[in-house]
Amino acid sequence: MLVAGFDVGNSRLSVALVAEDGELVSVARQETPPDASSAVETLATMAEELIGAAGEQPAAAGIGFGGPVDAAAGRVRTSYLTPGWGGLALGEVMADRLGVPAYLANDADAGGLGEALFGAGMGAESVLYVNVGTGIGGAVILNGRIHAGHSSMAGEIGHFLVVPDGPECTCGHRGCLQSVSAGPALAAAAEERLARGEVSTLGQRVGQLTGSDVGEAAAARDALAVGVVADATRFLAMAIANAVNLIDPAVVVVGGGVTEMGEVLLAPLRRHYRGFVLDPERQAAIVPAALGYDAGVVGAACVALTELGAAESCL
Ligand SMILES: [Zn+2]
Repeated sequence: MLVAGFDVGNSRLSVALVAEDGELVSVARQETPPDASSAVETLATMAEELIGAAGEQPAAAGIGFGGPVDAAAGRVRTSYLTPGWGGLALGEVMADRLGVPAYLANDADAGGLGEALFGAGMGAESVLYVNVGTGIGGAVILNGRIHAGHSSMAGEIGHFLVVPDGPECTCGHRGCLQSVSAGPALAAAAEERLARGEVSTLGQRVGQLTGSDVGEAAAARDALAVGVVADATRFLAMAIANAVNLIDPAVVVVGGGVTEMGEVLLAPLRRHYRGFVLDPERQAAIVPAALGYDAGVVGAACVALTELGAAESCL
């Protein structure tokens, strides 16, 4: 049996066919078109090509969308990205187009489900997933299913308040974790330190720094970059420890672009976390995500697998 996965991101669309055991059979990627209706058309065409090449219709499709969704209704709530997505019944649209049932989830929820079933959280009965990239998303996976919550808003760890009256967040509030620990926040903090006269190799790229520049400099032991990463990981650890104290998952899986820093990020994150969590000996360890580049689209396919009841064999 095959299922289809759709990952609808800010800048990239991915479509994949995935087998029951989580194996990626085929995948296609394209830049996200500037409006929702062209994006839907592109997604459907990409899927039809993959299905034609595989010679097998998927049993169902799962869609991970990069913004708030009403998972139960299969409807996009809003998009911070491109116009035309708000209110779109994306599940129904794709189901009609492909002729198979289609299930919608938030992309971080889908990514977390993929890690819980086939990645770093495999075998754990409960997983807290945190995705740190240009934003910070999260998911709570219980017994192989997404805990979406009453309003499909569970797992939004990126909007944990960690700095009262801190920097403004994309959600409109101030001091959310995302506003101090996501990729753009690392770049902004480095720019601020440079403006105060701190010396760093990053000075050569002042005005155009990215989060990955800061990560690379931290890996090369640049003092300014190490300081920025230390501050950001302290807030990230604080939010993770609070979430762990609340739900007590078996494992915490951390993924996303920023985690490409590896131990440069994970070592201080674990150190701070152990200082914040109630019982570091018994509570969840923090491990890096295992599915890598295609985690989003594999996770989306896992949404279809769980809806079909086909994922129970993974637990
Ligand atoms: Zn926020």
